[in-house]
Amino acid sequence: MDMYRGGCLCGAIRFEIEGRIGSIVYCHCSQCRKAQGSAFATNGIVRTIDFRLCSGQDKLTAYESTPGQTKFFCKVCGSPIMSRTDSQPEQVRVRLGTIESDIEERPMAHIFATSKANWEEITGMLPQYVSYEPGRIMTGNEE
Ligand SMILES: [Zn+2]
Ligand SMILES: [Zn+2]
Repeated sequence: MDMYRGGCLCGAIRFEIEGRIGSIVYCHCSQCRKAQGSAFATNGIVRTIDFRLCSGQDKLTAYESTPGQTKFFCKVCGSPIMSRTDSQPEQVRVRLGTIESDIEERPMAHIFATSKANWEEITGMLPQYVSYEPGRIMTGNEE
């Protein structure tokens, strides 16, 4: 499989993903909506060892949105890149919109569906969950 490549809007931050992207979900929680400035975030799990920051290390800044849960973004252009949970250092949750390669994996669910913006209508056949998708280790309140 080819590597996935991505980066932030201004181009300072570039990254590569060597492995698979797992558990892709649309998260409609209030934190994701604010972090993305949109109706939802589309995030997928990548093993930390598979995620390689190629450039822009000095532009990557962090915000601890929930105790133990940190969102990383570009301090120049604001692109959200990924998040990390202290209790799960082996994985990061990548914001799929920053990946430029075609992605083979597909979203599997809508999570925090009842937290959605009142102007949003969730359509399609994917399952919708009130909280995390079944099987996710609970690590915090939201993404
Ligand atoms: Zn940037
Ligand atoms: Zn969320």
